[in-house]
Amino acid sequence: MSLSQLARTIHESVTLKLNQTAALLREKGEPVIHLGGGEPKSKTPLDAIVSCTAVLNSGDIKYTPPDGIPALKKAIIRYTEEYYGRAVRPENVVASCGAKQAIMAALIAILDPKDEVIFPAPYWVSYPEMVKLAGGVPVAVKPEDGTFYPTVKEIADCIGSYTKAVILNSPNNPSGVMYSRDFIAEMVELCAKKSIYLIMDDTYNRLVFDGKSPINCYDFSKEDIDASKLVVINCVSKMYAMTGFRIGWAVGSRDLLGAMATIQSQQTSGPATPSQWAAVGALNGVQNSIEALRMTLENNRNILLDHLLAFPGIRVTKPEGAFYCFPDFSNYEKSSQKLAEFLLNKVRVVTVPGKEFGMEGHLRISFCGAPKEITEGIERIRWALDPASPNELYLGDRRLVRDWM
Ligand code: PMP
Repeated sequence: MSLSQLARTIHESVTLKLNQTAALLREKGEPVIHLGGGEPKSKTPLDAIVSCTAVLNSGDIKYTPPDGIPALKKAIIRYTEEYYGRAVRPENVVASCGAKQAIMAALIAILDPKDEVIFPAPYWVSYPEMVKLAGGVPVAVKPEDGTFYPTVKEIADCIGSYTKAVILNSPNNPSGVMYSRDFIAEMVELCAKKSIYLIMDDTYNRLVFDGKSPINCYDFSKEDIDASKLVVINCVSKMYAMTGFRIGWAVGSRDLLGAMATIQSQQTSGPATPSQWAAVGALNGVQNSIEALRMTLENNRNILLDHLLAFPGIRVTKPEGAFYCFPDFSNYEKSSQKLAEFLLNKVRVVTVPGKEFGMEGHLRISFCGAPKEITEGIERIRWALDPASPNELYLGDRRLVRDWM
């Protein structure tokens, strides 16, 4: 079979593949615990369902403008005013098929061949592949001090004549860390000074813990939006627990967003109409589901941390938001791929290998599931790895004997 060079260089989404593997094992009746997932368990907000159902009941479901229906743009504009304090116009907004398409359209709109896009490691699995799909070159910056917090200097040192953009994701997938206000402020300033795009992936923006407030990058941008290269990405996927609706959006300069709308018009046309109406319902409706989710996640984070901190031999950084933790298991196994496969095979726990996020030796553990699953999942991992654990474990009525130590 003859495939393009591009197709041959793109890796499939590991997280989506793990979902499939876990689903197949579950279908076979295996007692799988999925700590690899990237979606909250909570239900779609009622206002989203009502709005979506109304359009479905009309039976009149047709193409929409490629950059979104006016009602959704209006809701996004209101959201941007309320949570970012920025007044923007419809031409500064594009609604996309998830945050993924919004980022992808932005990259296609700004990258020429060989242009570079910088992002800190650990990074969301899709950034390198998306940059390559858009013809660019991904440049991951790994903090030298071994933390998950890059310094502005580390990023500035990577900026060269080919650099077109920086992507920042905070709270971060996969580490759960939240970059500091000072860091975001200096990055906004640096990118403006160097005239490069700063793509703020705010997918988890309001899911922050310990009384922290979400950081608003516009607080540090004095430029008129149409002169600015700051692009803010959001979606209903995580904060509104609406991953399956596939609605995200970008806010930025009229020129860039116009180009993104044109790209979408040839690529997919507008996002699915019922999904856009669902997003209108979610954004305009009662907002308490986000706070309820945030509190659930903070509680889950605490439960997970209690178990991880008691786990000898691993290094844990406290997540400050989102729903991921990224412990270092290299004392047990250096290859995260081998370790994740081992845990799935031996104790049926799904985790995601850190290698996929640009950091070997780590595993991404999600805490968006039920507390019982989190607790049992970590207990199973500990049983498989910690020589001090008893030799036997019961998964339901199945007795496991540890014969690998
Ligand atoms: N950015 C980050 C950091 C994410 O974790 C995800 C989803 N895993 C996305 C973007 C994509 O979101 P969506 O499902 O809306 O495409």
